[in-house]
Amino acid sequence: MRKILIVGNWKMHLNASQASLLLHRLHERIKIHRDVEVVLAPSMLVLQPLSVQIDRRKFRLATQNAFHIDEGAYTGEVSFTMLRDLVHYAIIGHSERRHVFGEPLDLIRDKVAAAVRNEITPILCVGETKTEKVAGETEKVLHDQVVSGLSNMTAREVAKMVIAYEPVWAISSGSNYAHHEIATPEQVERVAKFIRHNIEELYGPKAAKMVRILYGGSSNAENAKAYLSTPGIDGLLPGGASLNYHEFSGMVRTAYRLQRERIEA
Ligand code: PEP
Repeated sequence: MRKILIVGNWKMHLNASQASLLLHRLHERIKIHRDVEVVLAPSMLVLQPLSVQIDRRKFRLATQNAFHIDEGAYTGEVSFTMLRDLVHYAIIGHSERRHVFGEPLDLIRDKVAAAVRNEITPILCVGETKTEKVAGETEKVLHDQVVSGLSNMTAREVAKMVIAYEPVWAISSGSNYAHHEIATPEQVERVAKFIRHNIEELYGPKAAKMVRILYGGSSNAENAKAYLSTPGIDGLLPGGASLNYHEFSGMVRTAYRLQRERIEA
């Protein structure tokens, strides 16, 4: 059975004391569970202080980004090498990195490789924009993002990785939280199947069976059950909802409940 993974992407929110307070509140509400992994992705600035405060039996840390070269004259950058003892996971290819910062496919491929080289598990985000969806290009876009993102990887490495399907049109940008399109579980199921099929063709059935696929895009405590019950989906990557401890701990509790039901079945 694949472990459920709930990853909170705090984006560029919360200074050190705010982040510490949120972690404290989550700690009070979240229990240890063997089959559910809870990952927090705060800003780079607070990874270090949170790593000291965190209960490692409950939480793991992820970086939201890093530089693909291990060391050198790259003013302002932080490498995966510098983060290797601090984080378990790295969010790579988030739509904001792709579209706001213009990160191209080959840079994302190099970041995936750098994370793996430094023993950090990539959470490779893929997803189509609204324009691409309307033009009927969803599968082509996802195929290109998956194939290029994983192109330097072996089947063994892919098996351990995480892919997050995040349709750009379903991601809340904070201020428009209540006013955008929501992906249906049926749409998400179709895409998860398509991604797993792509991985099977490229890396074989074992990698396809083991790779975890998350959904991200306006997920919250209310819709977590529907997405987590979607065949082929192994977890969630909330942005906005991860900043609210009621919402985020509610999502984790839903994951606990579903995992317990699966074990008992
Ligand atoms: C995200 O940015 O990864 C995300 C899914 O954001 P939100 O949950 O706010 O839509």
